[in-house]
This record gives sequence, C-alpha cells and structure tokens, in this order.
Amino acid sequence: MITLELADVEIDYCIDCGGIWLDAGELELLLGQPEKARQLLDSFKIDSKSAEKPRKCPICDKKMQKIIVGPSKPTLLIDKCRRGDGLWFDKGELQDIFNRAQLDKDNKIQELLADMFGHDQENQN
Ligand SMILES: [Zn+2]
Repeated sequence: MITLELADVEIDYCIDCGGIWLDAGELELLLGQPEKARQLLDSFKIDSKSAEKPRKCPICDKKMQKIIVGPSKPTLLIDKCRRGDGLWFDKGELQDIFNRAQLDKDNKIQELLADMFGHDQENQN
C-alpha cells in the first residue's frame, strides 16, 4: 500500500486492487460535515450473513466485519475492523459512499477522488 494525501488526510491506497484503507476518524475528516458524518456512521449495520469473503485488518490482522452502509440500493458493503482500527473500501466504494452521503455541492472530496481514481460514468456529462 502507498500513502496518498487527500484533502490533508493521509489515506492508504493499494495499487494492486484499488482499495483504500482509512484509519479510525479519517472518514469523518474527509466528509468535513459533522452532521453528515454522524448520519452516515449511524447508518452502518453489521451484515453477519454476508457471502463476501472476509478481509483482514491491515493493522491488527484480524478478520473484519462486513458493514452495510445506509438503506440505499444496490447494497454498499464495506469492511470494518472489530477493534475499531479503521475501514476498508474496495475499489470505487469510497466514491460511492460520498455520492450517497449527499454532500454539499462545494465539497471538494468527490472531485479530488475523481481526479485521483477516475470519473464515474454518470459524472462525465
Ligand atoms: Zn484491526
């Protein structure tokens, strides 16, 4: 993994798979809107029946929990360390979560992510 700086927050990016690791608290920093961040974190639900293969936490090396983000479809599943070390986003999932968080139009994160990792189809108009 390599370290990237995104809006003054250091994120860990896997060049091989395109996944992103955020240490605890970094998602809130990136969102930059405490109210939205709380809503988003409150929407997390543990998916104990997920068929997705568990990932291991890069910090404690234990299997992480699958977390369903919000009620919207299609289901967005991310991985969360049981000890609270942080969150893992597969390729594209971090962009997905910011799209769903309905951030203010002047929020720079989606733009920064798009510059770094490529634009979504729907944003190319
Ligand atoms: Zn951990």
